[in-house]
Order: sequence, then structure tokens, then C-alpha cells
Amino acid sequence: MNLLLGKPVADKINEDLKPVIEDLKKKGVTPTLAVVRVGAREDDLAYERGLKKKFDSMECGVVVMELPEDVSQEELDDTVANLDKDPDIHGILMFRPLPKTLTDENIVKSISAVKDSDCMGTANMANLFAGNGEGYAPCTAQAVIEILKFYGIDLKGKKVTVVGRSLVIGKPVALMLIKENATVTVCHTRTADLKAECKAADIIVAAAGKAKMITKDFVREGQTVIDVGMNVDEEGNLCGDVNFDEVSELTEAITPVPRGVGSVTTSVLLKNVVTGAVKSVG
Ligand code: NAP
Repeated sequence: MNLLLGKPVADKINEDLKPVIEDLKKKGVTPTLAVVRVGAREDDLAYERGLKKKFDSMECGVVVMELPEDVSQEELDDTVANLDKDPDIHGILMFRPLPKTLTDENIVKSISAVKDSDCMGTANMANLFAGNGEGYAPCTAQAVIEILKFYGIDLKGKKVTVVGRSLVIGKPVALMLIKENATVTVCHTRTADLKAECKAADIIVAAAGKAKMITKDFVREGQTVIDVGMNVDEEGNLCGDVNFDEVSELTEAITPVPRGVGSVTTSVLLKNVVTGAVKSVG
């Protein structure tokens, strides 16, 4: 069994970005991400700490716009609109879900593709749908593709089963896999025989958000399994959607949780912000 660790993939992305960042600095530009956070949810704060550490280590900037839970819709919309216009900001990440009193409706429609570093807006979703290579995909979905490419896992003509159809992971990763010439099956809670769909695949991408639901009964020898899930198990430990101990005994290659997909996501975010900065200097 090959363990597909995220760190070497992230390290390679970071190394490739270093000369680009240096070049931007010579031109007086520091790639800078604006994080828009409403309230202080612990999972948002944990992700924010992780990305600040990564951006710091690469000498890139992070500006956090912290808004109170009772912020008005107008103020939230204006905050993002102003960041979108700010020439010193090269990417925007807004934590979601928002509190129930707020909607992302206006932001999703208006955010410009070049600053929409995690593909929450309709402009980048359209780019992804068209497969035109413009804009950015959601960082986690892109991280899945980066891992498969880094480890030389050929996608052409391969059967890939994606478990999950969310706008953040399942659907975008399916579109990206199609672009890589894979034959893709997308599964969800109404899929009639999930075990059979998983067993029939060469590669499984698990993104259901259900702790350890992919057991040995879903897999067969020779498969590659990419586990996107980030869940907490009964003992309170971080775990994926895949029952790693059981499944890793059968599969050819597998990503662990933690130390898998999640380790690559912030490097992809950094890459998107650096790309935004490069575009800003023309
Ligand atoms: P989500 O919005 O809740 O979507 C889950 C999807 O999985 C839905 O399409 C749902 O089907 C499907 N699903 C749920 N249970 C299923 C089951 N028993 N059988 C088949 N399909 C099932 O979740 P998400 O935002 O896509 O996130 C998925 C996972 O990725 C979560 O664990 C999340 O924490 C993790 N995640 C990881 C990273 C990272 O950096 N590694 C980043 C973001 C999220 P329906 O559409 O029918 O409801």
C-alpha cells in the first residue's frame, strides 16, 4: 500500500511558488489574501491559524476582516465589495456557512473571478464548468487533483467514483476529473448501490463528511482512495470518510487523514492568491 501524504505535494507547490513570489516582491507586490470571517467559530479559527502560518512562512500577507455575528447584510456585502476593489488585496476567502441571518447571494454573484481564490462565485463556477482553464477551482477539489498528479496516478480513461455532490468538493472535483479524461460517477445519499459504485472504480474520491463510512466492503484490491473527509470519530479524533485501517489493507494507494488532502489545501489557496497578484501587475 502506498501512503499518499499531502506534505510532499504541498512542498512542491510552495517551492514552485518561491521564485514567483520573489519576482513579485521585486516589483513591490506582496501577495495578500483577505479573510472575511463573521463571528469566531472554532473550525474557522483553526483554518485561519493554519493559513496564516503557511502565508507567513512564504512571506505573503493575510488580512483578517472579522465581523460580528450581528453584522448587517449591507456591511458584509460592502466589506467584500471593497476588498474586491482594493489593489493591495489579491485574493478573498470568506468563511461559510454564514450565520442564518445572512446570505452570500450578492457576494456570490458579484465577486470577481481573479480575487475569488476558493471559487465561491458564479464567475469561477462558470469557468470550471466550461473547463476553460481560467479562474480557480475550490482549493480542496484542486488539492485532490494536485495529489493525483504529483503521485503520477494516471486519470486518462480511468473510472473514478466521487462520493458527494456538494458545490465545494463533489461537483467541482467531478468536473476536474472529466477534464483529465477520467470517466466519472458521482454518488450521493440517493445512490442505489454505493458499495457497487465504489467497487467498480479504479479511483474513489470520498467527500461525504461521514466518519469512516467507506469500509472494506466498498473497496477491492488495486484501487486508489483519496479521502477528503474531515470528521471527528467517537473517540474525538480527527478522521476521514474512509475506515483507514480496513481499507488500506486492500488498496494500492490511499491518502491518510490527517496528513492527506487537508495538508495541500492551504498551498493551493496560496497558489491562487499568488496567481491573483501576478495578474494584478499585468
Ligand atoms: P456536504 O456539503 O455535507 O456534502 C456531502 C455530500 O456527501 C452530499 O452530496 C451528500 O449527498 C453526500 N453524502 C453524505 N452522506 C452520504 C452517504 N451516506 N452516502 C452517499 N453520499 C453521502 O459536505 P462537503 O462540504 O462537501 O464536505 C465533505 C467532507 O469534506 C466533510 O467531511 C468536510 O469536513 C471535508 N472537507 C475537507 C476539506 C479539506 O481541506 N480536506 C475541506 C473542506 C471540506 P446529498 O447531496 O444527497 O445530501
